[in-house]
Amino acid sequence: MITAIGDVLRRCYDRGWITSRDGNCSLRRARSIYLSITPSGWRKTIIHPEHMIKIRIKDGKMEVSPGTKPSGELHMHFLLTKGMSKTRAVVHVHATNVVAAIYRGFDLQKICAEFPEIYRYTRIGPTVPTLPAVSTELGEATARALGVTDTNPAGDFDIVGQANHGVCSMAPDPWSAYEHVERLDHICEIVLKSGVSP
Ligand SMILES: [Zn+2]
Repeated sequence: MITAIGDVLRRCYDRGWITSRDGNCSLRRARSIYLSITPSGWRKTIIHPEHMIKIRIKDGKMEVSPGTKPSGELHMHFLLTKGMSKTRAVVHVHATNVVAAIYRGFDLQKICAEFPEIYRYTRIGPTVPTLPAVSTELGEATARALGVTDTNPAGDFDIVGQANHGVCSMAPDPWSAYEHVERLDHICEIVLKSGVSP
């Protein structure tokens, strides 16, 4: 599954959803004391298992090993995996059509309600407002939008858009998280191409 992280990010790069050093992905296996996350600033086209950074979770807090440089969005990934008893993968990329649809003023939940190829498989949460990248505010607002709380670590949704930025999705494995992004981007592309106004 760790190998899949590099494969997913390469696919995201090929689709134009990230530039070389953007995007991040994490995996925390069921009951593991480690969260594995992509390194900061690394070219995502050459991510392989040995590049992943293992963060030890102790007493509900992260222990980042000195000398390592995990993704700047580590806090967001931590919040989305911290109370989980099952394996969880989190993907954050800048899916072009999703960001464009939000920018144009579309409500993602509303447009997705019209297309069964997404609502049958992917639950879309409310869009996260514009917030600075790599901020704790962005991590917290993303967790809130996904319905993730201390009492509901699994959350209520699979993916949310983040205004002027990207998307964040979560699933039991990296490729399933990728598929949520793919479905949402596809619907946004269709809606934008239709020419309708928000
Ligand atoms: Zn980002």
